[in-house]
Amino acid sequence: MVTRCLVVAATAVCAISAASAQAPEAAPPYPAPKTAPPIVTPGRTDADPPSDAVVLFSGKDLSHWRSEDGSPAKWIVRDNYVEVKPGAGGINTADKFGDVQLHIEWATPSIVKGEGQERGNSGVFLMGRYEVQVLDSYQNETYYHGQAGAVYKQYPPLVNASRKPGEWQSYDIIFHAPHFDEMGKVVDRARMTVLHNGVLIQNNVEVYGITYHDRAPVYLPHSPQESLALQDHGNPIRYRNIWIRRL
Ligand code: MG
Repeated sequence: MVTRCLVVAATAVCAISAASAQAPEAAPPYPAPKTAPPIVTPGRTDADPPSDAVVLFSGKDLSHWRSEDGSPAKWIVRDNYVEVKPGAGGINTADKFGDVQLHIEWATPSIVKGEGQERGNSGVFLMGRYEVQVLDSYQNETYYHGQAGAVYKQYPPLVNASRKPGEWQSYDIIFHAPHFDEMGKVVDRARMTVLHNGVLIQNNVEVYGITYHDRAPVYLPHSPQESLALQDHGNPIRYRNIWIRRL
C-alpha cells in the first residue's frame, strides 16, 4: 500500500511538471534586441588595445596630448613610456570624451622619496575634473581617500592592490559622464568603476563632483565631452600603454 501511494504521488508530480512545461511563457518586460552587437577584435592580451580603441599613447610620441595652455605637451618620452616633467603642468588629450573605458599603466619612482601625498603623486582626471588618484601607496600612509585608486577625497579604494615602487601598474576605468539640465544643474552624477592591477577597487561609485583637494566637491556644468588629463604633482611618474574606448 505504501509503495502504491508513492507511485501515485510521483505520477501526479510528473503530470504537473509536464503541464507547466507546456504552458506559454510569459513575455519578458523588455523588447528583444534587433541588432547584432558590433564585432570588436580584442588585443593580443587584455592590456592591449582592442580594434575600436583610441590609442592615446603607444610609447612613441605625445601627438594626442597638449599642455594646459594648448601648446604641445612637454613631458618626457623615452623607452616606450612618458614621464611627468615636474613644473611643466598637466597634460590633456586633444580629443574629448564622455562615457569611456580607459586603460592606463603607470609606475612611481623606484627610488622612494618623500611620504604621504608627496610620494609618487599624479592623477588620472576623467573629463579633466574627476580624479582617480595615482600615488605610491606601497607601505605609504596617507588619508584613505587620498591613496592610490581613490576617487580623490571622496572614496578610498576597496582594497590596496598596489605594487612596489618602480613596478608597472594598471588602471582599468569605466566612467559614466554626468548629465546636466539646461539650467546647469546636475541630474545624473558621474559614476566610476576602477580595477587596479586587475583588482576591483571602485564599484560603480557615484562621484560627488569635482575632486578638489581643498574644498568640498561640487558639480559645475560642462560639455558632454571633455579632455582626459594627467596631473603634474611634481613627481616623475611614468605612464605607458594608454587607450580609451567610447561607450
Ligand atoms: Mg594626485
